[in-house]
Amino acid sequence: MNKVYNFSAGPAILPREAMEAGSRACLEFQGMGLSLLEISHRSTEYQQVVTDACAIVKELLGVPDGYTVMFLQGGASLQFAMAPMNILGDTETAAYVDTGVWAAKAIKEARLFGNVEVLASSKDANYNFIPKDYTVPAAARYLHLTSNNTIYGTQLQSFPSVAVPLVCDMSSDIFSRPVDVSKFGLIYAGAQKNMGIAGTTLVIIREDWLGLGKRKLPSMLDYKLHADAGSMYNTPPAFAVYMALETLKWVKAEGGVAAMQKRNEEKAAALYAEIDANPLFKGTSALEDRSRMNITFVMEKPELEKEFLKEAETAGLSGLKGHRSVGGFRASIYNAMGLDGVQALVTLMRDFATRHAA
Ligand code: PMP
Repeated sequence: MNKVYNFSAGPAILPREAMEAGSRACLEFQGMGLSLLEISHRSTEYQQVVTDACAIVKELLGVPDGYTVMFLQGGASLQFAMAPMNILGDTETAAYVDTGVWAAKAIKEARLFGNVEVLASSKDANYNFIPKDYTVPAAARYLHLTSNNTIYGTQLQSFPSVAVPLVCDMSSDIFSRPVDVSKFGLIYAGAQKNMGIAGTTLVIIREDWLGLGKRKLPSMLDYKLHADAGSMYNTPPAFAVYMALETLKWVKAEGGVAAMQKRNEEKAAALYAEIDANPLFKGTSALEDRSRMNITFVMEKPELEKEFLKEAETAGLSGLKGHRSVGGFRASIYNAMGLDGVQALVTLMRDFATRHAA
């Protein structure tokens, strides 16, 4: 089989080792004579998977004492609602920064549960930068941020130092770099970009934010209940959690999140250098906010975009079409993408430009 480089934004590229472990576990799990897909989630073998998955999250991110790690369901989208539902009182205010459609969806859900102050928005600029010039009201319950805006190719290079706790959607850059978890009351991330497959959502929450009793909650939407049950209140998405564990084991074997950061910076630098040097292509996001996960670019001659995409597919470069709201191209270069994939893309861009020189 020829190698295809997967630049898809999500579900996305996975480490080969994780996919091999997943394939083996589908056929037989740990010498049980049974598949991981058919065993009880209450079995000792599966319980260990959840325990190990939570432990490796803590280890890789250096999660301090006083935080709980959980694997939930409903995608990052459910967290847009679940976070304010659990944390924000009816008369309290939460601060949000609108940096893209995912942030906007988080804002929409939070408005169902309390007061929402949108401190800044880059919507008028089609979200091509991240606003940083804002003041967080001292009384805000939390400041909600989206660390990486998957569609627009913008990423917070550092988290602001503010007096209130941060709540952050890290769906598209979790485990791509070290983070100081102590700044956050809550971190959430859908697994299907940088830490596994669709079906589970990682939640890291301050323990004193559990069971605040702000309102009556359905059981499945109550963080405390899931925390008390060790992510096993109901049948968990067993295979998705297993794939997260295997993906994170690969991250650890590769040197952890600091090593991921180095690789991701190197890959992004190589691709941005080509975008900036190549007369046919140009980047779409503000230089200082450029994402190291989703690299967005368009063509100076848009009429050539279809042809480039076609050549890319033929050359084994898959998933490069940009999101419809930005157009052009988006190269998602999550942890599992090697420098060789980026180099293959750079080579094609260079070659294409030579052949289409004016
Ligand atoms: N937040 C971000 C930053 C995303 O990129 C996405 C998915 N593309 C979501 C939230 C929504 O995630 P889910 O599909 O898991 O609900």
